[in-house]
Amino acid sequence: MSAPVKIQYLKGIGPAKAKLFERLEIQTVQDLLHYYPRTYQDRRLNMPPNEYNADSLTIFKGRVLRTQQIPAKSVLIFKAVLEDEKGEQLECTWFKKRMYRAFRFDPFGQLKKDFHLNNEVWVIGRKNDRGAMFGNQITVDEYYVAADVMTQWHAGRLTPIYALTEGLTNKQFRQFMVEALQSPTLTETPEILPSAILQKRKLLSAPQALKAIHFPNSLAELNVARTRLAYEEFLLLATAWGIKRTQTKVLAKDYAYEIKKTLLTPFKEQLGFDFTGSQKKVINEIFSDLLSPRPMNRLLQGDVGSGKTVVALCAMLLAVENGYQAALMAPTEILAEQHFLTFKRILKDLPVKVAILTSSTKTAQKKKILQGLADGSIQILVGTHAVIQDNVQFHNLRLAVIDEQHRFGVKQRSKLKEKTAKLDLLTMTATPIPRTLALAFYGDLAVSTISELPPGRQPILTECATSKLAYDRVRSEVQKAVRHILFFRS
Ligand code: ADP
Ligand code: MG
Repeated sequence: MSAPVKIQYLKGIGPAKAKLFERLEIQTVQDLLHYYPRTYQDRRLNMPPNEYNADSLTIFKGRVLRTQQIPAKSVLIFKAVLEDEKGEQLECTWFKKRMYRAFRFDPFGQLKKDFHLNNEVWVIGRKNDRGAMFGNQITVDEYYVAADVMTQWHAGRLTPIYALTEGLTNKQFRQFMVEALQSPTLTETPEILPSAILQKRKLLSAPQALKAIHFPNSLAELNVARTRLAYEEFLLLATAWGIKRTQTKVLAKDYAYEIKKTLLTPFKEQLGFDFTGSQKKVINEIFSDLLSPRPMNRLLQGDVGSGKTVVALCAMLLAVENGYQAALMAPTEILAEQHFLTFKRILKDLPVKVAILTSSTKTAQKKKILQGLADGSIQILVGTHAVIQDNVQFHNLRLAVIDEQHRFGVKQRSKLKEKTAKLDLLTMTATPIPRTLALAFYGDLAVSTISELPPGRQPILTECATSKLAYDRVRSEVQKAVRHILFFRS
């Protein structure tokens, strides 16, 4: 494979345009080829309904019958009437602001040239109601002169629509894409799929697929192009997971757990409730990970109130009774504080030292905590992002728990992992994630689910809402609460 060609060397793109492409993360011609359409418009004539030809969109090809410029107060209007082969007529309208006048520049100059009598053109536009009484009338979005060689890429076909940035139009972008598809970069696109797989799965070659994803000749061709590109993406992902799994397998922990029950038994006794069946199941899953020679990477999911915290605490106590440290990171100070108080309460008669570290921990206190973490006298640390700051050094951190993990970024999570080379990681969330999605997001991840609430709880209702609906709901609940308080005060 030859060196990648910078996008600015593609015909028609200079350094200035290249900057716009950079905003789309397109640096090379190869990047451009892999910038797939956001959607398509079916700009073929008389196509039966499909997902790409919305009702509101009109595609018309016809000859210019007459044109007219109408002076109005604030806008200039240009109209053209077209007639197609079947004798059907369409009135097309363009509007321009009047300010152009000041520059003695005819805003319709190009239009008048292109819409000379009898010239054949394609127009793409939206029906406008105002003219309905005069028959077919549209406001034109794009037009193309039928005889132009480039027109075949914009009209009379399934036309790609790209997600763009200001300063680029879809028309320009398609033109650059055609340029890229005709450049040597396309044919030099490396084929990463083995030919045996290509044959067995009847997949398009990489260049064929790229050509067809941008300019499909039919809906069927679009489908096979997608299949090929999706197959490639999934194969790459699956391969990456496979490599990661193999790496994790050889990555043996240099520490081991043993269930001693010196802390776990008294903890269970003073808890005041029994674990639900679900909690028992996930504790078993987590413990078998901890006891295995490979580092744990497990997601614990369960509704709010399903009792994830005590499950995490079990795991942390197993670490502590083996002489290791454990840390729990929460996304907000309030949550960290809550966990800290819970831990203090549940562990009050046990020989376990718990500390909390957040950005508002006072300097003197913080110094003491850092000392305790370094010498191992603090066994459990609860905190916010402050936990992963560089000045926090642990004596022997072996287990990290992340609460509400979806609210932390990937960077923060991996930073916690960096804190010590081989670490057992438990992440918790109330947002259920299907296994396949979890894998896609986080790589090789095991998932445990708490599927029942402790006895006596109201079932939790999960709903999907727009932000407006959500705010309205919060507002009405707050009002209810306020009314309730006022009622009891009076
Ligand atoms: P979440 O999964 O939302 O983090 P918590 O761990 O905060 O839920 O648990 C909510 C409450 O339920 C806590 O007060 C906890 O002590 C209590 N709890 C947890 N497990 C049980 C159980 N098996 N029986 C009764 N109460 C429980
Ligand atoms: Mg919680």
